[in-house]
Amino acid sequence: MENNNAYKGYRGAALSVLKNFKAPVWSDVDLITPKGTYSGIILPRSEKADDLHIVLKMPIGYNIGILAEAVTDIKVKGQKEAIYKIPEKAFPVDPNKPNIKLLGTGGTIASRLDYRTGAVIPAFSPGELYGSVPELADYCNLDTEKLYGVFSENMGPEQWIGTAKAIGREIDKGVQGIVIGHGTDVMHHTAAVLSFMVQDSPIPIVMVGSQRSSDRPSSDAALNLIHAVKTAAESDIAETMVCMFGPTSDEYGLLHRGTRVRKMHSSYRSTFRTIGDIPLAKVDRNEITPFSDNYKKRRKDRNVTINPVFEEKVSMVYYYPNMQPDIIDSLIDNGYKGIVIAGTGLGHVNKPVYPALKRAQEKGVAVYMTVQTLWGYVQMYVYDTGRDMMELGVVPLANMLPEVAYVKLGWALGQTHDLDKVKEIMLTPIAGEITEREPSNGYLIFQGGIPEVEEFISKYRK
Ligand code: ASP
Repeated sequence: MENNNAYKGYRGAALSVLKNFKAPVWSDVDLITPKGTYSGIILPRSEKADDLHIVLKMPIGYNIGILAEAVTDIKVKGQKEAIYKIPEKAFPVDPNKPNIKLLGTGGTIASRLDYRTGAVIPAFSPGELYGSVPELADYCNLDTEKLYGVFSENMGPEQWIGTAKAIGREIDKGVQGIVIGHGTDVMHHTAAVLSFMVQDSPIPIVMVGSQRSSDRPSSDAALNLIHAVKTAAESDIAETMVCMFGPTSDEYGLLHRGTRVRKMHSSYRSTFRTIGDIPLAKVDRNEITPFSDNYKKRRKDRNVTINPVFEEKVSMVYYYPNMQPDIIDSLIDNGYKGIVIAGTGLGHVNKPVYPALKRAQEKGVAVYMTVQTLWGYVQMYVYDTGRDMMELGVVPLANMLPEVAYVKLGWALGQTHDLDKVKEIMLTPIAGEITEREPSNGYLIFQGGIPEVEEFISKYRK
């Protein structure tokens, strides 16, 4: 492969253009194309990246890719190499502080953690973390382990099972809290599945990620990590939680129960919301404030149930008007054992789909209904269509979120293919995935994001 260090990661067309204009990586350049001039630093590329684009870090912090063949000239103004390695400092050990384990799975938080130097690095050892976020040592002794290094869209049953087993191992070893670094996109799936695979944990299991990489001034990486580590070290909430920015500002983080949380915005730092309930607690550098005492408490024992199983032949279907029965038929024909439908309103699909539902019932495929409104309950007794669907074997899942239902069904079918037993597992709340009622203040309250709501909360919350 054509490559060398001065042109790190570049191949093919992009490499030729850079060589032609004598512009190695870390050059500060004006890159000229017929569409305009782009200024920035030429970044190295990963081995797997394509060979067509030159990537520039622009002064505002964003990276852009420019098609190499469109480049007519490159003016090199200087060299600005980012510090590629974080200064490693030994993480201090204090026998009076709790021992926390950080399990890394990947995501933005793992790939760019040096918020001061702006370096693009997979910071992960305790020393590197301490070098970039020294505040972590105020709360604990930290040990780290990289389980995976993937963006979270690549997480799946194999990684969920591996993570659940690693959690069991660490609890056995005696750690007082676990932090899981994870990409945000699929964090709520993983939080839910771990809530089922790891039951009755004696310690907090805190998932954390970042919406903005740490080479950007607005990064949430360091603060989220500080909040998560504090929660793992000091909180008495022994559940699987997600810890991310609460409001759009960096005022506090929120702790969300693993089965009631969802990523709700593609770019806001305050993207995670508890749905149909209030969050568990808020956390800042100084304190953790639970919003109620409805949570499982930390214990000293080491008893935990790890049940790491998953049936992969499970699907989730998001209903849309005019959906045809062939969608369901093809799942049946392809050997799927379970289907979660996210239906409209109270849990509906159109009549043309009914024959396929009947066929699913005949073939022993487990079909469950959730609502795409996210807040509220499936209600299949209100309209006769709901009753018809129940007769076709579709089981309503109350206020279980669609993604939670998907992972719970995979987990349930991983244990048994006896559909009555699966139904019993699905309808028995294990970790708050079904609640008896949604509190009136469980609709966005405490979760900020809208200035008026923020203002209201700060006025009236004591
Ligand atoms: N696509 C990334 C992921 O989910 C984004 C992130 O890390 O937040 O892994």
